[in-house]
Amino acid sequence: KPHIHLQVQISLFGEDDRLIVARDVTRIHQLELMRRDFVGNVSHEMRTPLTVIRGYLETLLEHSGELPKKWQRPLQAMMTQSNRMEALITDLILLSRIETGNATPDHSPINVPVLMEQICADARALSGDAQHQIRFTASTDHGVIGDESQLRSAFSNLVFNAVKYTPPGGVITVEWCESIEGAWLSVCDSGVGIDPVHIPRLTERFYRADPSRHKDTGGTGLGLAIVKHALLNHDATLAIHSQPGEGSEFICQFPEERLTSPQQ
Ligand code: ADP
Repeated sequence: KPHIHLQVQISLFGEDDRLIVARDVTRIHQLELMRRDFVGNVSHEMRTPLTVIRGYLETLLEHSGELPKKWQRPLQAMMTQSNRMEALITDLILLSRIETGNATPDHSPINVPVLMEQICADARALSGDAQHQIRFTASTDHGVIGDESQLRSAFSNLVFNAVKYTPPGGVITVEWCESIEGAWLSVCDSGVGIDPVHIPRLTERFYRADPSRHKDTGGTGLGLAIVKHALLNHDATLAIHSQPGEGSEFICQFPEERLTSPQQ
């Protein structure tokens, strides 16, 4: 059965006058679905040829000693760019899966403290010689009911961003706490910070606060879009607080209905 999507706006005037405006947004909705499908399919189709290209490049690089010296730099550059494209395709596929309704999230109990310990260990490996201090504290044993792979992607993006946008030796604090409305996860860094004018648009695909910086960080520009949609699928919200030069804080707020009892 075809669905009709209506956008309804109700305005109240005085005691009992109301203005109701209903807009038929069915076509916009259909186009949005087509866009998601198209992006998902194209990304899938691009993965196979890219795998072949990377395979040949790896073989060439393994034998680079036998090749003329002037080929080494171009080969390395081709490998770097292929890796960037691979990361982009992976994120595009992930985002289109998370965005589409048919990727109904799993409903399993997730042990958030265990998950966060794993992500922080990966982040320490990513930091490497930059030696960020990455601390995790959990003041509640509650878990979340949902899709572990989606939340792992969301939380990893937040913690890895904190590493990427914090100079060496900086401090990254991750906290999992209970609140009156549910529980929240906060990822706080002492990094470069963000100008508040950019904050409302950060979760848009490919939006970057400082485009000149993204080449160094190797990001895809899709991380926070993935975070936003993964959280939406868990009825959770994202709040961002930041000032340039004063670090940033990203807070994921989960409603009580989404929490497991502490011992699970
Ligand atoms: P990217 O791949 O560029 O990191 P994201 O979607 O993850 O893409 O983030 C979007 C933009 O938000 C980044 O380009 C950066 O400008 C800004 N940003 C994200 N996290 C942080 C952070 N912890 N500190 C400062 N800026 C950040």
